[in-house]
Amino acid sequence: MYAQVALPIPLDKTFTYEVPHGWNVVPGHRVLVRFRGKVRTGFVVEVSDSPPNVEVSPILDIVDPEPVLPEDLLHLTRWVAEYYLCSWGEAIKAAVPSGLFREASARKLEGPRPGTVRVRTVRLRVPKEELDLRLAELEARAPRQAECLRVLWERGGEVRLSELEGRWRIGRDSVRRLQAKGLVDLVEEEVVRDPFAEVRGEPPDESPLTSHQEEALRVVQEALEGGFYRTVLLWGVTGSGKTRVYLEAMDRALKLGKGAIVLVPEISLTPQTVRRFKGWFGEQVAVLHSGLSEGERYDAWRMVREGMRRIVIGARSAVFAPVPDLGLIVVDEEHETTYKQYDTSPRYNARDVAVVRMKMSKGVAILGSATPSLESYYNALKGKFVLVRLPERIRGRPLPEVEVVDMRKGRWPFSDLLLEKVRERLERREKVILLQNRRGYAAFVQCPDCGHVFRCPHCRVSLTYHAAGRNLVCHYCGFRKKVPSSCPNCGGVHLRPRGLGTERVEEALERSFPEAEVVRMDLDTTGRKGAHWRLLDRFWSEGDVLLGTQMVAKGLDYPEVTLVGVVSADVSLSLPDFRAGERTFQLLTQVAGRTGRGDLPGEVVIQTYSPKERAIRFAVNHDFEGYAEEELRERKALGYPPFKRLLLIRFRGKEEAEVRQVAEMYGEALKSDRIEVLGPAEAPLGRLRGYFRWQVLLKGDHVSLHRAWAEADGRLRPEARRREVTVVPDMDPVGML
Ligand code: ADP
Ligand code: ZN
Repeated sequence: MYAQVALPIPLDKTFTYEVPHGWNVVPGHRVLVRFRGKVRTGFVVEVSDSPPNVEVSPILDIVDPEPVLPEDLLHLTRWVAEYYLCSWGEAIKAAVPSGLFREASARKLEGPRPGTVRVRTVRLRVPKEELDLRLAELEARAPRQAECLRVLWERGGEVRLSELEGRWRIGRDSVRRLQAKGLVDLVEEEVVRDPFAEVRGEPPDESPLTSHQEEALRVVQEALEGGFYRTVLLWGVTGSGKTRVYLEAMDRALKLGKGAIVLVPEISLTPQTVRRFKGWFGEQVAVLHSGLSEGERYDAWRMVREGMRRIVIGARSAVFAPVPDLGLIVVDEEHETTYKQYDTSPRYNARDVAVVRMKMSKGVAILGSATPSLESYYNALKGKFVLVRLPERIRGRPLPEVEVVDMRKGRWPFSDLLLEKVRERLERREKVILLQNRRGYAAFVQCPDCGHVFRCPHCRVSLTYHAAGRNLVCHYCGFRKKVPSSCPNCGGVHLRPRGLGTERVEEALERSFPEAEVVRMDLDTTGRKGAHWRLLDRFWSEGDVLLGTQMVAKGLDYPEVTLVGVVSADVSLSLPDFRAGERTFQLLTQVAGRTGRGDLPGEVVIQTYSPKERAIRFAVNHDFEGYAEEELRERKALGYPPFKRLLLIRFRGKEEAEVRQVAEMYGEALKSDRIEVLGPAEAPLGRLRGYFRWQVLLKGDHVSLHRAWAEADGRLRPEARRREVTVVPDMDPVGML
C-alpha cells in the first residue's frame, strides 16, 4: 500500500510513502516520514495500492492509534488549499492545534499537564499626578527608574518583571529601588491559564421571542430538520436580539443531536457574549482562545473531537473545530476583517470557510451583522443566502440621534458641540464612549521650519509619537527612538506633534474635564492578557469616559452609555483601500450602537473634515440599505468585489530592483483576456520592516484567476527564488496594505 502524505510546507503537492507491511493506515492518520533528510510530521490524505514509478521511502511511524483528522476536515482543508492557493499540508496545519505538527513534542502532548506557572509582576502604586512629580525628580538622577515608571504608566499600570527586563532592559535593581520608595509593588502570582475557565454564565433568557426572531428561527429550523444546507444572513441593528437567535438556534441544533460552532471576531473583546453562551450551555461549551497553552489547546480540541463538548466558541481558527455531526456555524459580526487571516498561509476568510463547510456537511450557517459585508449582502440579494431582518431594537428602543460636526470650521480635538455634550453627561453621571482610531500621542512629528517628518528607517511610514516615553514608534515594525531636541535636517527646535492619537485626546480630555475618570483602551494599555477586562471593569464601576481605538466600538453593552463621540472619522477614511468607505460606515455604525442600550436615549457626535463622504452621510441615518445601494453601484462600475474577485499578489525582497523585476515578469505572464491585471506597482507600504514590496492586483472570476496564477507561478517561481523574492498570492484580500 502507498499513502499520499500532506506536509506543512509551501510546496503545492502531496508526497508518496510506502505503508510498511501489516500496518493499517487510513486518511486522517498523523504519521512521521523522512523528508529531505529530516523527520517530519504529516497527515495521510489518501491511500492506494498502485505503486508510484519512482522509489519511495516508508512511513516511519503512526503517531496516534486512531486517525486524528476527521474526514469532513480532510475535504474542507483540501478546498481551502485549492481556493486560497496554498498546499494541503499548510491548510491542515491551520486547522489543527499547532502542537500536532511539532515532531519532538508530538508525544509529550499526551503526557502530564504542566503545573501552574508563577510570574512576578510589577505594579504602579501611585496616581498620575504624583507620578508626574516623581518622574521629574527621577529623570536626572535615576533615568532607568524613570523609564520604568513611564513604561508602567504606558502599559496600563502593570507589566511582568521578565518583560521589563527583556524588552526594556530595566533591571531588578531599578525595580527594587522603586519598591523601596513605595512607588511600585512587586507581586508574585499564579497565572490563571484559562481566563474563561472561571467565567460564570448568565442564566438563559425566558422572555418570549419577537416575531422577527421567530421568523429567523423558523428558517434555521427548517434546514436543520430537513438536513439541508442553508446560509442565513441575519441583518439586525445592534441590540435587536441577534445573539438570542444564535442561542436558540444552537439549542435546537443540540436537541437534534448536532453540534455547533460560534465564531466571534476577537474573543477577548466579547466577554459578555461568552458569559451568555456559558449560561445557556454550561459544560457543553469549549472556549478556544489564544490564551490557552499548547497542551490546553490540544486537550480542548480532543474533547471536541470526541464529542464531549458539543459547542465551540472561538475566533477565526475555530471554524475548523472537529465537532462531530456539526449542524450549525454562527459567524457573529460577519463583516469583521479579523476573520481573514492575512499574514500567513492559508490566507483564508473564516466566514467563507464556514459557508463552504456547511455546504459540504449539509448544515446551516448563520451570518449575523448590523452592517453586513457587501459580499454577503449581495449574496442575499441574489438569493444565495436567505436574508432575515431584525429591524428594531428590543423593546422598541430608538437608535441614537447622530450629529455630524464639520471640523473644517471646528477646533480639534473637541468641537463646542462635543464638549457641551460630554459636560452634560458628566453632570448627570452618565457614561461616554469616545472613539479615536489611532493610538499614540500624535500621528507624526514635524519640523515646521523645513517640513521634515520623522520616518521609520525600515518602513515607508512616519513614526507615531508616544508621549509617555517621549518616543517615536513605528506601528508596523516596532522600531522606537527618543524624540531629539532639534530637527536632524535643519537644526530647528520647534518640533511639533501633528494629528491626533488616543494619548493626545486623553490629555485634552483631562484638561477640559479634570474631574472625569477616563479609561483609555488601545493596544498600548491592553498589552497584558486580561487587561481588557480590567479596563472595562474599571469603566463599568467608576469610569466616566471610555476612550480608545476601534476596540471600544465592539460588542460592549453598557446601558449607562448615553453619548458616543467619534473624535475624527477621517482616520479610517484615508486608508489606501477600496473598502475604506465600507469600513468607515461599519465602524461608525458599530460605535453608534454602543449607546442608547438602556432606558435612556443615546446620542452620537461624529467629527470629520469630510461630512459629504458617502459613509458618513448614510451612517447618520443608520441607513445600511441606502449605503449599500450606492456603494454596490460604484463597485459594479469599477469591477470590484462582489462583482469581480480580486487576487492580490505580493512580492517582497531586500533588493528593490529584483523585487521590481520579478513583479514585472509575473505581471507580464499573468496577462490573459479573461482577467484584468493592475500593476505591477509599488505596494501602499512600499517598504516594510526593511523589505521592499511590490504588488500585482488581478480582477476576474476565481477560476480564471486560479488558472492564470498556476500557469505564471509554475513557470516563474524558480526565477523568483533565485532572486530571493518571496511571492505570495492572496485570494480575496481584506485590504490592499
Ligand atoms: P444583539 O446581539 O443584536 O446586539 P441581543 O441578543 O444581545 O442583541 O439582545 C439585546 C438585549 O435584548 C439583550 O439584553 C437581550 O437579553 C434582550 N433580548 C433579546 N431578545 C429578547 C426578547 N425576545 N425579549 C426581551 N428581551 C430580549
Ligand atoms: Zn518600521
